[in-house]
Amino acid sequence: MTLLTAEGIGLSIGGNRILDAVDVAFRRGRVTALLGPNGAGKSSLLACLAALRVPNEGAARLDGADVAGLDRRERGRRIGFLPQAADVHWDVDVATLVALGRLPHQGRWGATAADRAAVERALAATDMDGLRTRGVERLSGGERGRALLARVLAGEPEWLLADEPLASLDPAHQLDVLARLRGVADAGSGVVLVLHDLHLAARIADDAVLMRGGRVIAAGPADDVLTAPLIAQAYGVDVEIGVTPGGQRFILPIAR
Ligand code: ADP
Ligand code: MG
Repeated sequence: MTLLTAEGIGLSIGGNRILDAVDVAFRRGRVTALLGPNGAGKSSLLACLAALRVPNEGAARLDGADVAGLDRRERGRRIGFLPQAADVHWDVDVATLVALGRLPHQGRWGATAADRAAVERALAATDMDGLRTRGVERLSGGERGRALLARVLAGEPEWLLADEPLASLDPAHQLDVLARLRGVADAGSGVVLVLHDLHLAARIADDAVLMRGGRVIAAGPADDVLTAPLIAQAYGVDVEIGVTPGGQRFILPIAR
């Protein structure tokens, strides 16, 4: 049982306090939604967890070890990071991009049959099989998001950290990707997702972390965190929370 934690994380960039005393523990086998208004510090926290940023205070720890100090290949095998699709400009075809997700597993002899099988599973799981020879630069935003997801799925990480993986996906692919991420958690990995759609968060998240102004204002089981008062405190909007006739929870922002 591995544990990924943020312990007393403080981050300042250019004199701005971006994260302040952030303490959170994430659990494997669970989907955790990282929520909060624009500028809350969600991407910055995710970047610290993935060791893409090193905090000024505190640390992100994997089983107690500072992630920033882990061997790069080990970190790459254990923590998969899915950046925002708009941030990626790699001029390779889809199959090549997805195969990059296996690099941390490969020795000096290159890809094995197991590596190739993992790539095929990831392409199939994201519905990208038919686009495998397409250049990443010639994909739509949503297709690019799925290609990036395939890359991180191919690595079969213990922890999958994704920054707004549903942005720019059409509704059918949003639900597809949610189902896929659910499957990753059900198979035992920890899934941490920055989401800005409360409705989709309510649909997938087991746990939720609500941030504002670089601080965590609530964390715990999603049903305890995604309440009208806490959402109002974080986002400054009122919401209607209900359950559909089909039994699905929904959260609808309403005008004040
Ligand atoms: P979120 O993902 O919740 O929208 P971010 O973590 O991206 O928030 O950003 C949190 C705050 O930090 C924002 O006010 C943003 O402007 C600031 N910020 C993020 N990255 C940088 C940077 N490289 N330099 C300066 N400020 C930054
Ligand atoms: Mg962000």
